Amino acid sequence: MISVKSSHDLRAMKEACQISAQALQLAGSLVEPGITTAEIDHEVEKFIRKAGAKPNFLGYGGFPGSACISINEVVIHGIPGKRVIREGDIVSVDTGAFYNGFNGDNAATFAAGTISPEAQGLLDTTRESLYKGIEAAQAGNRIGDIGAAVQRYVEERGYSVVRQFVGHGVGTDLHEDPSVPNFGTPGRGPRLTPGMTIAIEPMITMGTYEVKILPDKWTTVTADGKLAAHFEHTIAITQNGPVILTMP
Ligand code: MG
Repeated sequence: MISVKSSHDLRAMKEACQISAQALQLAGSLVEPGITTAEIDHEVEKFIRKAGAKPNFLGYGGFPGSACISINEVVIHGIPGKRVIREGDIVSVDTGAFYNGFNGDNAATFAAGTISPEAQGLLDTTRESLYKGIEAAQAGNRIGDIGAAVQRYVEERGYSVVRQFVGHGVGTDLHEDPSVPNFGTPGRGPRLTPGMTIAIEPMITMGTYEVKILPDKWTTVTADGKLAAHFEHTIAITQNGPVILTMP
């Protein structure tokens, strides 16, 4: 069932989303050669708790971190740990906070030092594809319009859209209906109505869109070992167009 939020709900949810966004900004500022992913995770958790919120990823399905930190060929769900970030890595960070009874969820891929032009192209395309998806999230459109907009933009540039993981509704629960694929057919799927809140999160790869999950049951890597990037915003559908709740 798709939940529709009142304007009061949206105001409360925006605060959770703002904490999530600031946690992501903080994480991004810490992405530098020499830091471990556990150190970034620790700072993210500290920031979210200091804001009076809860890191909503921590313990979700048993996930052991407050942030998912995914380096290079890791697409999503990288577990923070002893791995040291190196010059030239691309580092996808996903952060979320639970506050006021609502969840925020957002992600971005950051460059550690100087990265290759190829990696930069992937980052730029993935970020822009998220905004293409958001532009399509107009009341009266359908979920398929979002995925189609992302997919068209990405595939025209020679990259691939991960199929196995998708965006989602978000609200009092971190993952709500509907599913929000980053691929699809215009005019298909549930209709977007004011008060719906969804997380759009293109996961884009340089090679195949196939992924595999490592034996730790979380870390999701590209099947061919090529680079992947991930950008995400939580947005609200309104009469006046999409509103990005996780825009800091
Ligand atoms: Mg998400």
